[in-house]
Amino acid sequence: MSHEFSKNPAALDQQFCWHPFTPMEEWCAPENPPLILSHGRGATLYAQDGTAYLDGNSSIWTNLHGHCHPLINEGIRRQLEKFSHVSFLGAGHAPAAILAEKLCVLTPGKNLCKAFFSDNGSTAIEVALKLAVQFWQQNGAPERSRFVAFDNAYHGDTVGAASVGGVPLFHERFSTMHFPVDRVSCVEELENLPDFRAGKCAAVLLEPLVQGVNRMHLWPKGMLRQLRRLCDETGTFLILDEILTGFGRTGTMFACEQEDVCPDFLCLAKGLTGGYLPLAATLTTQHVFDGFLGPRQAQRTFFYGHSYTANPLGCAAALANLSIFESEPVLEKISNLSELLSQLLAGLPGNCPFIKSTRQIGVIAGMDLSLPDGSDFPATAFAGHAVCKIARNHGLLTRNIGDTITLLPPYCTTPEELERMVSAIRKAATEFGERFIP
Ligand SMILES: *Cc1c(COP(=O)(O)O)cnc(C)c1O
Repeated sequence: MSHEFSKNPAALDQQFCWHPFTPMEEWCAPENPPLILSHGRGATLYAQDGTAYLDGNSSIWTNLHGHCHPLINEGIRRQLEKFSHVSFLGAGHAPAAILAEKLCVLTPGKNLCKAFFSDNGSTAIEVALKLAVQFWQQNGAPERSRFVAFDNAYHGDTVGAASVGGVPLFHERFSTMHFPVDRVSCVEELENLPDFRAGKCAAVLLEPLVQGVNRMHLWPKGMLRQLRRLCDETGTFLILDEILTGFGRTGTMFACEQEDVCPDFLCLAKGLTGGYLPLAATLTTQHVFDGFLGPRQAQRTFFYGHSYTANPLGCAAALANLSIFESEPVLEKISNLSELLSQLLAGLPGNCPFIKSTRQIGVIAGMDLSLPDGSDFPATAFAGHAVCKIARNHGLLTRNIGDTITLLPPYCTTPEELERMVSAIRKAATEFGERFIP
């Protein structure tokens, strides 16, 4: 069934929508009709005019198995026949209960055994922050109220999650709204941080193995394990933000498996539902959970929640997502895709004078643009944005972070599609760069 529009959706969009992370004057300019997508299959998205695009960033890092996957569609449809939403305050439902168990079993170690649901990555972080602070308040260490976060971290855009973020472009403007945070650039700095040594920190937050928004910055090997050890030594909680890295992105189901680390809080969102519906989970330990027990009048309850907490459709999508990991060789596909991706990236700087360097872990890649002599494009050229726009003409949708082009294909991407994705970036970078060559 299709909707009847009095105007075409592009015109309605320009008149009535406000897009995230988007300069709206440029967006609304009459000469810039926006791209309106209409449907998708696998790794391909189709625009209203029929043009096909490869979804090179998995719809902002959410999609795992492709668009319109029959199992996820079916999982949502079956739940739709029962109910779409009921409150998780005062009642439970099967999809949430089964999903919580599956997530606790699936995550590394045996420690994570309680799941607190919310709506998105930012709220998964907010939950972890508030649980940590309240835990220490009511378990004998109220002085543990500070958080340690890493430079250039990204944990979401709500005020709490942004307080622990460190990307100046997104966060500086709102700094008056943020709570104070101890910031470190590496584990060595953490080791010497007075608040940390003095037992004043509630928790340390980290995006394990790779900081996505920080242009796919890769942490040195062993860093995560070192961090776990330091947190153990000082009795500080470790919050791992696997909102990007969870569900196979880095090659293992969860990034923390690669260093045999189990956090005290694990935040999951983005890929949790396969990229179909907004749902998040903050997993934690029996120890944390027990710190909230007591008679009602003891006021140890966690007073936090959202109207759509544990939305049944979202939980059904997440269950279907996990079932695909069981019924299809997904991790094997990821491994093959990741190997091909590294071959293709290895050839890039040689085949394109405007790509200086590349980084990759699993099916996450960053490609840094530069002029042939290795210097940066002038900031006023907005090279990254321009290259992504040109890449559209070559059938690829993806996004830049500054002058780094990101590529995070869905796991269903075929070798031929992956080659087309990388080649679209190469062509677009070359077309753009050549304008700067006299
Ligand atoms: C996307 C992301 C978030 C925020 O998730 P939202 O669902 O956009 O609120 C937090 N941390 C990381 C590492 C992310 O990639």
